[in-house]
Amino acid sequence: MATLEISNLHASVAEEGGETILQGVDLEVKSGEIHALMGPNGSGKSTTAKIIAGHPAYEVTDGEILLHIEEDEFEGIDIDDDQRTWNLLDLEPNERAALGIFLGFQYPAEIEGVTMVNFLRTALNAKLEEREELFEDEEAEEAEADEEDDAGYDTSPMEGNVEEGEVGVAEFQGILQEKMELLDMDESFAQRYLNAGFSGGEKKQNEVLQAAILEPSIAVLDEIDSGLDIDRLQDVSDGINALRDEQGTGILQITHYQRILDYVEPDHVHVMLDGKIAKSGGAELAEKLEDRGYEWVREEAFETA
Ligand code: ADP
Ligand code: MG
Ligand code: MG
Repeated sequence: MATLEISNLHASVAEEGGETILQGVDLEVKSGEIHALMGPNGSGKSTTAKIIAGHPAYEVTDGEILLHIEEDEFEGIDIDDDQRTWNLLDLEPNERAALGIFLGFQYPAEIEGVTMVNFLRTALNAKLEEREELFEDEEAEEAEADEEDDAGYDTSPMEGNVEEGEVGVAEFQGILQEKMELLDMDESFAQRYLNAGFSGGEKKQNEVLQAAILEPSIAVLDEIDSGLDIDRLQDVSDGINALRDEQGTGILQITHYQRILDYVEPDHVHVMLDGKIAKSGGAELAEKLEDRGYEWVREEAFETA
């Protein structure tokens, strides 16, 4: 179990006199939950996503983003406490990813001669390696702080987890096959080259496949529904539901439209306006937005302000 806890998040564009975009975002997403983050264009949804992942274009001016991780998220790693809390704003993007935060990258750089399968294996190994380093660093710091501890104490927090450091080609084939079955995807997909011109819909499916392979505790999916025809929307939605149901991934589903929520039913719906969550509710809130647009939320927010 993991909980992503965003509180009072304020952020602006990271340049002198940069525009303020987020003005106090509060949001909590747990493993296994589906949250829809909705709102008109320009309200700050993508900015929120990018700040969670650690995008350097933004400067956080107030508030915090915490990730609470329970021990079972780290199978094979001996963590002393039953739950650990990480301050994500202190961590690099790859460290956040190693701890289980996923922000899809729909358009992986089109590198000549690299297949999808190699790209995915590299991404997985990068995550595992970063995770190892993260815990090694912690261990080194603790060892320093605890110098008088007896010299015979040598249990590494990573022992028994990824000793080899890498998932090899053969092992990865097995993982890939399992994930592609989970997502009901065609195996030939992974054999294609990154520069082979994936369609818009295929790029979105790719994003779900990345999430399946990396097994994040929280996945942020930004407008994964945009530009999809109804069949692709169904496929991508089935994949998102599988991430939640089979891997216990918590989903922060950013969308402008209610349509995908007919297929991926949210437990919670949040409406972002002017860099803040103006209203939260259940699935019925999304339906109301579909019927009535966003203006009434703004009016209601003004009334109570
Ligand atoms: P949404 O995803 O809800 O449509 P965004 O988070 O992309 O909204 O953008 C919110 C506002 O912040 C917009 O007015 C946008 O122009 C501005 N903005 C976002 N990123 C930057 C940036 N890197 N530089 C300047 N302005 C930005
Ligand atoms: Mg956006
Ligand atoms: Mg333990």
